[in-house]
Amino acid sequence: MKLRSSIWATILLLGIYFFSGGTGDTLAGGGLADLTPTRTKTDGLKGKVIVIDPGHGGYNAGAVGASGKTWEKTNVLFIAKDLKTMLEAAGATVVMTRETDISPESKTRNQLETRVDIANQAKADLFVSIHNDANKDRTIVGTTTYYYGSAQSRRLAESVQKSLVAALGSRDHGVKSSPYYVLRHTKMPAILVEVGFISNFWEEKRLADPAYRYRASQGIFEGIKQYFSSSSFETPR
Ligand SMILES: [Zn+2]
Repeated sequence: MKLRSSIWATILLLGIYFFSGGTGDTLAGGGLADLTPTRTKTDGLKGKVIVIDPGHGGYNAGAVGASGKTWEKTNVLFIAKDLKTMLEAAGATVVMTRETDISPESKTRNQLETRVDIANQAKADLFVSIHNDANKDRTIVGTTTYYYGSAQSRRLAESVQKSLVAALGSRDHGVKSSPYYVLRHTKMPAILVEVGFISNFWEEKRLADPAYRYRASQGIFEGIKQYFSSSSFETPR
């Protein structure tokens, strides 16, 4: 009787051992673990994948400055590169849609499709497109951040707009909803930042100034950081 019960105890213990060992990997590799909301307050930017999209590039200069001598494609690339450095220093992984003066496109996908493809394939946490604004009315100056669709995109837009305007001391046009292609087709919270009006002589000069561009990068960076620290829970992907 005594021997029998100890055999059963051994079988039971072996069963527990294999059962817990067998399911351990499953839990860690996905399944239940992914359904548990993770607190992002302490995580911040660490481990986040962020796609930075400097608008235009190559043959596509974007808006041309009031003087005719500066281009949107150049201004936004400088801002994007500094933003990349800041995000990486904070522990994020950054994917750029372009890092040089080229138009990101292939034979089968145009530049807008390619920008979206890069973001969706990277399964990015955020998509940030950087642009300069332009208007026929050369008196217009200021900063606008666009979003489309989700509440998270709106919250990201509000966060970035607020800190960008604070960093630049620029005129605040607020956040606006607009169905831009890159905002409509990206599957993660996405914004399009119009840093300032290149069509205005005064703001064109500011946008071409390295110190001003650096402040723009800092403003966008702070806004992204705030976005992650203010989201108490992250929804599972
Ligand atoms: Zn643009």
